[in-house]
Amino acid sequence: MKAITVIPRKTNSLKLQDVEVPSPNSHEVLLKVQRIGICGTDRDIISGFYGEAPEGSSYLILGHESLCRVSETGRFVRGLKKGDLVVPTVRRNCPENCLNCRNGESDMCVTGHYKEHGIKGLHGFASDFAMSDASFVVRISESLSEIGVLLEPLTIVEKGISQTFKIQQGRLKWKPEKMLVLGAGPVGLLATAVLRMRGFEVHTVATRERDSLKARLVEETGATYINSKETPLSSLEHKYDAVFEITGSPSVALEAQALIRVNGVACFLGIYRQQQQLEDAGAIFTDLVLGNKVHFGSVNANKSYFVSGAKDLVLIQKKWPSLLKRMITRQKEPEDFEAAYSPESEEEIKTVINFE
Ligand SMILES: [Zn+2]
Ligand SMILES: [Zn+2]
Repeated sequence: MKAITVIPRKTNSLKLQDVEVPSPNSHEVLLKVQRIGICGTDRDIISGFYGEAPEGSSYLILGHESLCRVSETGRFVRGLKKGDLVVPTVRRNCPENCLNCRNGESDMCVTGHYKEHGIKGLHGFASDFAMSDASFVVRISESLSEIGVLLEPLTIVEKGISQTFKIQQGRLKWKPEKMLVLGAGPVGLLATAVLRMRGFEVHTVATRERDSLKARLVEETGATYINSKETPLSSLEHKYDAVFEITGSPSVALEAQALIRVNGVACFLGIYRQQQQLEDAGAIFTDLVLGNKVHFGSVNANKSYFVSGAKDLVLIQKKWPSLLKRMITRQKEPEDFEAAYSPESEEEIKTVINFE
């Protein structure tokens, strides 16, 4: 079968190769991959920043965002059958089975020895067939057969929002009204849609023009789009109950601090690669203290967020029928892998590769 692979930590090692179809053990499922989605994590692995091949393999099959159909089930697998439309989660429990992994929250693993499909120690889904532990596979509605590949990025949003509410409701009476989303890539757009669906006033900031696709998709949900080139963050007059930072820009992340209302919260979902000097750390911490503000980070998502995300995808599709489809801006064939993984144009939102 065809598989898109890299040799981890080696740049320019991306290739399409022929590998053997895996066969599932009694607790696994063999998946016929329909589509995979591409994001910054894949590009970071291709650039050699991280990535780890499975034990005994010299290469890693890429792909952690996927939409699959069950092709074959192991002997002890219950609740899944051939043909089911499914999305496997990404992370698997650490071998020590730490407190959180044991509790179904491998996204909160404390040992750091977890594995992740397509990223760390397990092959991903960028191949004709792929394998997963059946207990980490979530069945989704047939109505998502075109856009179900957006579920994995949505789970990042599901976790971020859920944790925001848990933190806030655990420390005060919280009735949020205004939310700020920094970034309008796939995760920012999905966050905008979910927050709008829950009835909040949402402002979403990005650098694209007002007539760009991203801006139009933001406004379709009833959120307000702010072009940060026209309206710098420092000039915003509003304060927000919660800020979701998804740009991965440290300077934007720092500016987010001033935009949080008293008793508010900032949820950081980016990876901040550039270096940034802090001009006045004292002012930031003083503002944090005097405003009872919370800053927290959130990574990955466990199965519960895939289950809630699958429900939200159906609801988003009902409310704004073309929104999710229009987020998939490029579809490529596996043979065209180089173009698919190359940097996106400014209007690009989500690129997918079809293995169907
Ligand atoms: Zn991703
Ligand atoms: Zn663990």
